[in-house]
Amino acid sequence: MIRLDDVTLSYKGRSGEVTALRNTSIDVKRGEFAAVVGPSGCGKSTLMKLVTGLIRPTSGTVSVEGQIVTGPVKVAGMAFQNANMLPWRTVLDNVMLPLEIVQPHRSRFRAEKAAYRTRALDLLGVVGLRDFADRFPWEMSGGMQQRASLCRSLIHEPALLMLDEPFAALDAFTREELWAVLRDLWQRLGFTVVLVTHDLREAAFLADTIHVMSARPGRIVESRSVDFPRPRPLEVCYEPAFTDLVHQLRGKIAEVRQA
Ligand code: ADP
Repeated sequence: MIRLDDVTLSYKGRSGEVTALRNTSIDVKRGEFAAVVGPSGCGKSTLMKLVTGLIRPTSGTVSVEGQIVTGPVKVAGMAFQNANMLPWRTVLDNVMLPLEIVQPHRSRFRAEKAAYRTRALDLLGVVGLRDFADRFPWEMSGGMQQRASLCRSLIHEPALLMLDEPFAALDAFTREELWAVLRDLWQRLGFTVVLVTHDLREAAFLADTIHVMSARPGRIVESRSVDFPRPRPLEVCYEPAFTDLVHQLRGKIAEVRQA
């Protein structure tokens, strides 16, 4: 689904050049749940921008679905730390927004509105928000807004979901609830995920593969597969094998921060 082959990305600014990624390679299979963890400033967001085609590599190649990325990638949905709901639209209208923008839905939107509305309500049902469809974002908690934001990023049925620290602003309980929501959406819809996170427990609970990045200039220094059986209950986070994995990842990150 995704291949970065020996990618280097340097930002050129007034104060000189910053190399955010150097000679980075990564592979993500179709349907895989991949997590990327690493110290702050190591280039995680840069990696997301490369995959979605918002920026182009200085050298090396980025491909998605076997095609070299040369501009914004249409098969990707995205969600960020901030839910970024439009305050003047109801939750349902926020969720339907991509259908008004992204082709081929945009041309069909008027004719297919009733079917799209049903699709949005079904998706809101999966995340437990069906009864809140007519509320405005400011009437809901941060966790509820982030659930709606996940629905909005999936409404056009993207093959690839790119998540940049989507749960970082939530309290610990809400965050774990949202892990389960994301797990269920992924299992039901079968898209490919790249999740950038600081939270090693989050990566270990959700991912099939965890890629650890070095400090800047970022590079994948370790890729680990996570073999806890699925479906994974939240209780897995309290098992010794889980705690061991998180400890090992923490050790690796401490090592790369000092290197
Ligand atoms: P992360 O998401 O891991 O915190 P980023 O990918 O945002 O890291 O940034 C990696 C490095 O590149 C950081 O040192 C950051 O300051 C720098 N950087 C990011 N975007 C730009 C930009 N547009 N211009 C110059 N430097 C940038």
